[in-house]
Parts: sequence; C-alpha cells; structure tokens
Amino acid sequence: MRGGLVGPRVLLRRLREVMSEPASAQERLDRIVVLIANNMVAEVCSVYVARADNTLELYATEGLNREAVHLTTMRLDEGLVGLIAREAQPLALSDAQHHPAFSYRPETGEEIYASFLGVPILRGGNALGVLVVQNRAARVYSEEEMEALQTTAMVLAEMIAGGELEALARPGSGGTVVRRTLAMQAQPIAEGVGLGHVVLHEPRVEIKNLVADDPDAELVRLNSALELLRASIDDLMDSGGLSHAGEHRDVLETFRMFAQDRGWVRRLHEAINTGLTAEAAVERVQSDVRARLLRQTDPYLRERLHDLDDLANRLLHQLTGAAFTLAAENLPENAILVARAMGPAALLEYQRLKLRGLVLEEGGATSHVAIVARALGIPTVGKAEGILGLVETGDAIIIDGHSGEIQIRPSQDVEAAYAERARLRARRQEQYRALRDKPAVTKDGVAVDIQMNAGLLVDLPNLDETGASGVGLFRTEILFMVAPSLPRAQAQEGLYRTIIDIAGRRPVTFRTLDIGGDKVLPYLRKIDEENPALGWRAVRIGLDRPALLRTQFRALLGAAKGRDLRIMLPMVATLEEFEAAKAMLNRERERARKLGQAGPKQVHLGIMLEVPSLLFDLERVFAAVDFVSIGTNDLMQFMFAADRENALVSARFDPLHPSFLRALSRVAMLSRETGRPVSLCGEMAGKPIEALALLGLGFRSFSMSPSNIGPVKAFVRGIEVGKLEAFMREKLETSFDSAGLRAGLVAFAAANDLSF
Ligand code: PEP
Ligand code: MG
Repeated sequence: MRGGLVGPRVLLRRLREVMSEPASAQERLDRIVVLIANNMVAEVCSVYVARADNTLELYATEGLNREAVHLTTMRLDEGLVGLIAREAQPLALSDAQHHPAFSYRPETGEEIYASFLGVPILRGGNALGVLVVQNRAARVYSEEEMEALQTTAMVLAEMIAGGELEALARPGSGGTVVRRTLAMQAQPIAEGVGLGHVVLHEPRVEIKNLVADDPDAELVRLNSALELLRASIDDLMDSGGLSHAGEHRDVLETFRMFAQDRGWVRRLHEAINTGLTAEAAVERVQSDVRARLLRQTDPYLRERLHDLDDLANRLLHQLTGAAFTLAAENLPENAILVARAMGPAALLEYQRLKLRGLVLEEGGATSHVAIVARALGIPTVGKAEGILGLVETGDAIIIDGHSGEIQIRPSQDVEAAYAERARLRARRQEQYRALRDKPAVTKDGVAVDIQMNAGLLVDLPNLDETGASGVGLFRTEILFMVAPSLPRAQAQEGLYRTIIDIAGRRPVTFRTLDIGGDKVLPYLRKIDEENPALGWRAVRIGLDRPALLRTQFRALLGAAKGRDLRIMLPMVATLEEFEAAKAMLNRERERARKLGQAGPKQVHLGIMLEVPSLLFDLERVFAAVDFVSIGTNDLMQFMFAADRENALVSARFDPLHPSFLRALSRVAMLSRETGRPVSLCGEMAGKPIEALALLGLGFRSFSMSPSNIGPVKAFVRGIEVGKLEAFMREKLETSFDSAGLRAGLVAFAAANDLSF
C-alpha cells in the first residue's frame, strides 16, 4: 500500500469526520467513495448494498457512471459482486474481465478497468453488501490493501445495520437485507406459536468507537486484555472452579490454545494497524470467523470456530468493560429468546410469563433446555442455523413450535396468519382443558391411564391443570442438572418429599439418576467417551459408584415415609443389573429398619425398557420386576442404531415401523399374561397417531409431556378400542413399512372425527 500503514489510518480518520458532518445519507456515501478512491489511488470505488429481494444494488460510486446509481442491480448469483456477497470473502483480480463470474453492465462504463478488489461488508458473519475498488491498469492488490478495505467496510456495515440507508433503496426492493423478511425452517421442539420480539440471550457488546486516535495505545490495550483473558482461563483451570455450565476442562483447553494462537493474535494486530480501536479489531476478526462458521459444514471445525467466537466475545467484554449480563433482567413483554445454546438453569432465570418463545441455534429436541422448555410450555424451535447473524434485538419474529417454522421480520399478512393460528391453537387448548376432569375412557368403555412426565418442581402444577392421574416418569436428573452443586441426601429428601406432597394421592414414579451420555452434571467431571450414548451412564454409573445411587435410594425412602414409593431404573441392559440395584435398595431399607426409621408403606421397583437386550429376556424380566416402563426415545435409538441427538438421523426412522411395533406388541402381550403392569413414557406416547397404534397393540397406560395429554385424551375418548385392535392386528400382519401404517391410522382417526 502506498504510504505504508499510514494510508488506512488517515482514511479511517477522514471517514470518521465524514460520519460526523451533517449531511444526507446519500451525500455521506458519495463522499465516502471519493475518500476511499483517493486514499487507495483507485479510479473507481463503489458500494453495493444487499437488498431484501436477494439482489445487490449500486448505492454509490466514484469513477463509474453516476447515472447507474440505484439503477444497476445484480442477483446474488451474478457477477463478481454477487460472488463476494455469497461467499462472504474478499476477492482481488488483476484481470477481472476474464474471470468466469464477471458480468458486464454497459450502463456503468466499467469495461475500461482491468483490476478489481472487492470485500464483503460484513456484520455478524452476514454480507450486507460489497465494497469495490477498481483500477484501469492491471495491478496486484496487496494484503494490506485488502485489509484496509475490509476495515473501511466496517464503517459501511454500521451505516447499513443502523438503518441509515433504508430510505435510499430503489422502490419495490423491500429495503436493505438487514430489514429483510426471512423464513427459516428449524427443528420443532416444544408446541405452540410464539409471536414477539427478539431478545438475545447473550446481548451483543455495543462498540461505540470504531476508529482509534492512537493505534499504539490500542495495541497496548489489546495485549493487556489478551493477557487478562489468558490469566482468567488459567485461573479457572487451576482453581478447579469448573462449575459454570459448559466450562469444562476440554473447552478451556481449547480456549487456552486459541488465546495463544499466533494467527488469531496476528490478525487482531493487523486490524489495529489499519486504524481500528482494539474492540473494533476484535469485532472485525470475529465477523470473519462467523462468516467462515456459516459456511463450514464439518462439525469438528464448526465447534472450533464457535470456540473462537466465544473467545472473541470474552475479549470484547474485557475491552469494553461490559458486564457478562444475560438478558434475563429487564425482559420486555413478548420476548422471543434467541440463543446459540443454553443450559436448563439459564432458562429458568427468565420470567416465564414474559417469554413467548425460545429459539436455539444449536440445541436439538432432546437437549436439556428443550426438556425444560417443554415442561414450562414455552414454544421452542432448535437447530436454527445461522439465526444469530440474521436477527437484531427488537426484531419482530414468529416461531411455530409445531412445524419448526421461523418468520423473521414478517410481513403483516404473515403475522396475521400466524396470529390466527395461535388463536386456533388457544381455542383447541381450551377444548382440551374442558376434558381435564373427564375420564380417559374409550367409547367402548376401556379405561386408559394417562400420567405425565416431569423433572422439576415447576412441572407439578400441571397435574391439576391437565388432569393427569400421576407422574409416570419423574426425571430426577433434571433436578440435579439445575442445582448449583450435587444435592446432598437431606436436600434430595426434601425435594422428593415436596414432590410427593404436591402429588397427594396421585402416584409419582421416580426414575433414578439418568446421567452420563449427553446429560452432564456441571459440577461432576465429564468423562470423554467415543460413544457417550453407549457409554458409562444411568444405572451403570449408579452400580459402579454406589454412593450416588445409595444416597438417592436413602433420600427416596425417607421422603416416602408411610406412603407408596415407586422407583424405576434407567438403561438397564441385563437382569443382573436390576438385581444388583434391587439388592442395594434392600440394604438401604434394612439399614433404615435397624435405625428404627419408618419406611414407605410399600415400595415398587420397576425397570425402564430402553435397551433391546431386554426384549430377548422378557419372561424373566416380567417375573422379576414390579412394573415395566418403556422408554421409546432410547429404545428407538438403540433398535435402529440412530443417535437421537443427531438431527441427520434422529428422524430417519419412524416409530410406526412394523419391526418396532412388533417388539412393543410382545411387551404388551407379556404384561397381559403375567399381570405385571407396563406403561410407556417415551415421546411416542404423546403423539396422537402413535398413541392410537399403541392402544391398538394393547397398551393401556402412558406417561407424556403435559401439553400432549389433552390431544391424546381426546383421541382415547373418541375411539372404540376393540375396532382399533382388530385394525392393528391386521395391519401388523400385512405391513412392511411405516408409511402404510401411518396412513391407515390417520384414516382411522379421520373416520372417527378425530383431528390433531
Ligand atoms: C426414553 O428414553 O424414552 C425416556 C423416556 O427417557 P429419556 O428421554 O429421559 O432418556
Ligand atoms: Mg431414556
């Protein structure tokens, strides 16, 4: 670059002056392009802005024909400018016209310019436009020039994101891309339609000062912030204070590695050398990382880029002194919370009544925050790729937790349609509520037991609200997951007693800790495993670390004094495991007796059927246990060898596949033959069509999320189970895939006037 590093610094300073002068947005843009062209000794400088209709519009130019401003547009898949916006990467060419993507626009008069340097105008990893300089002579642009142009583009990004250029767009284009109406497809997680405004779980750090007065001072600021950052990571690692959710040792190791990463630090230094403040430099480099992240498909590299993004965030907080506050305080009305990922405890910090919805960029349907969101009845969608780069605080947004649709900055028509959808759902919920006190009995008089799944104290009011006959699955690990430290025996006993008290005469089935796999307790050391779902989890941990399971048994026995106690064991693979756990429970009962402590009136110990090996030992299983509860979420995962956490495969197999249903049918049959109760508590039970299939196989007891109780009860009350059983018998004999079975059940429901 001519003039070394002085050029970009002078340019930035001049740009700052232009930004503070009173002028219209167009005048300001016109001055900016002249300044850049002069500073970079280029004949041409042009600004293209991405518009809502997926085109790029020429907003200002020095050097090209001015008549073309607000006339020339190109599609995103067109020309060099389109290429830069699409790829969100700079491009330098000494012979632009022979590049395959070059697209000639006669009205601009650009045919005489051979060299071309263009950079994306980035914000949050998204290209809001493209900034271009051109030269008549064939020349090679240096790295420094490219860097300088990218820095300059930040100023334009601020102008665009601030809405300053909104009024300039050619009529009919829908404005700039930052105001674009967008529809996205995400993964449905928790039912319901949410209409509201974006609240970012981790608010962005506002950077007020882009341009540095003294670059050397900025370098010193950056270096000392980096030092503090490294020291704080070291402290965290050394103190063993790994109690913050997510801050596990391996994450910190990676952080430490990045904080010392020469390439990253070098890029930060370069950005400061072009005249940015330290915080603006961090944002610049972070924006590049985000752009790479949006393009990256390799999960490992994505994870590393996320780490780098997190690190940049920490550095920004360090530099600006912004506190690490979450948005939980001062939540506006109608908030739709948008987070990259989030732990269950963080969600509980928000005021439930103001939350209209939750969007997770990464978390899927079986993540813990998803379980809590469902329990709280917050409409939720997950795996919303790239959403954090597309929304700003306050943007209007609609989410549909049933279909997974997200509407960002929706048009009035779309908003009206969703509002109607929300009203319809609310009306249907009213109808379901009316069923609350009606019995779950089929038309031909067969009673069905419908209980609910729970995992937190806040779930329990749902017992009254839904009319559930009990808690068929209490996931005790969720209580543990939201606790700041491992609850001791006494604290556990208190919690369990409160739960039993609230449930009153309704039974509660406590599942012992189902930790391990993806369910990590923040205060326990995480074990690295190749296949965590197949690893050291649930009852396996309980048997290998008896103190944990014994304490839980002891607390449960104490809590249920004089009452019935129901306990079930998760992830049991062999009867020996059940027997070993039962022996442990008996020892605890014996101990209590010796100490003269009163015990429960009766203790029922059941087993969760989640591992297929038990299917081949069913006779012995039924003879040994007090009851069986089928966890279809895990049973599906293991039967079809399809990771329930992996969106690529989790929905690949239908639980209505005849092979799966035949296995379930045998369990129902053995329960009838032995008289030992069986229930089903996986997600499958809560879906009306699946519930029909299960009723048709002979199941009469279910446990499900509270929001599913109304729809399933309506189905139960609307059918003749005798007919349904005959239908399923015939279907199971003749079907070889799930499609026909599902269609048949849908038709069966329709013929009985059941809608869902
Ligand atoms: C299941 O696996 O079906 C189940 C109910 O347990 P969880 O979803 O908690 O693993
Ligand atoms: Mg399970």
